[in-house]
Amino acid sequence: MSKQLILALSKGRILDETLPLLADAGIEPAEDLGKSRKLLFDTNLPDVKLVVIRATDVPTYVQLGAADLGVAGKDVLLEHGAAGLFEPLDLEIARCKLMTAGITGAEPAHARRRVATKFVNVARRWYAEQGIQAEVIKLYGAMELAPLMNLADEIVDIVDTGNTLRANGMEPRELIAPVSTRLVVNKAAMTMKHARIKPLLERLAQAVARRREGVAG
Ligand code: AMP
Repeated sequence: MSKQLILALSKGRILDETLPLLADAGIEPAEDLGKSRKLLFDTNLPDVKLVVIRATDVPTYVQLGAADLGVAGKDVLLEHGAAGLFEPLDLEIARCKLMTAGITGAEPAHARRRVATKFVNVARRWYAEQGIQAEVIKLYGAMELAPLMNLADEIVDIVDTGNTLRANGMEPRELIAPVSTRLVVNKAAMTMKHARIKPLLERLAQAVARRREGVAG
C-alpha cells in the first residue's frame, strides 16, 4: 500500500463547504479547483492528494481503496451502503433532510404507492419498514416532476428549504433521515495507514469543533 493518502471529494455544493474546512485543518489544494478541468490535485502536504468526483462515486472509490478517505453526504452513504467503510466524523456541513413528498393537499395513496426517486435502496427500505407497499421508480433527476406528470404518487428526495417542492406544487411529508456531510475512511487504510490518518482525523475534528463554536458564538 502506497504511503500517499488520497482524499476523494464530492463535486458541487458539498465541495464549496468542504474546502474551507480542509483549509482550517491544514489541507489546501495546490491550485484553484474551480479553475481547473483536472480531477487529481496536489495539496500543500506532499503525501496528500485530492480527487474531485461525483458525490455518488465517492463511497465506491473509498470502499474499493482507490481513495483512502472521502467526503460524502449521508444521503449518498445510506443509498450506497456501509460495507468496507468507516464513518468516523460528521463534518456538520451541507445539512438537509431525506424526505418523502407529494402533491400539496393530496392524500397519500393507500394501495400500492408509486414512489419516484434516485434513492431507490433508501426508499425500498423505508417504505418496507413502514409497512407500506411501494413500487419504487428510479429517476436520475427532476424528481419533483414525477407526481405532476402522474408518473408517481410520491417522491423521496433531498429537502433543504422546501422551495423546490413548493415551486412545483408539492409539500414535504415524512422525514426519512437528517443528512449532513461525513468523512469516510477505507477500512484497510484505517489499519495500514493509521499513523498518518489519525492526526488528519484529529485536525479535521478540531476544525469542525471550531466551526461549531463559531456558529454558536
Ligand atoms: P430546497 O429547494 O432548498 O429544498 O433544496 C432542494 C434541492 O436542493 C434538492 O432537490 C437537492 O437536489 C438540492 N440540495 C439541497 N441541499 C443539498 C445538500 N446538502 N446536498 C445535496 N443536494 C442538496
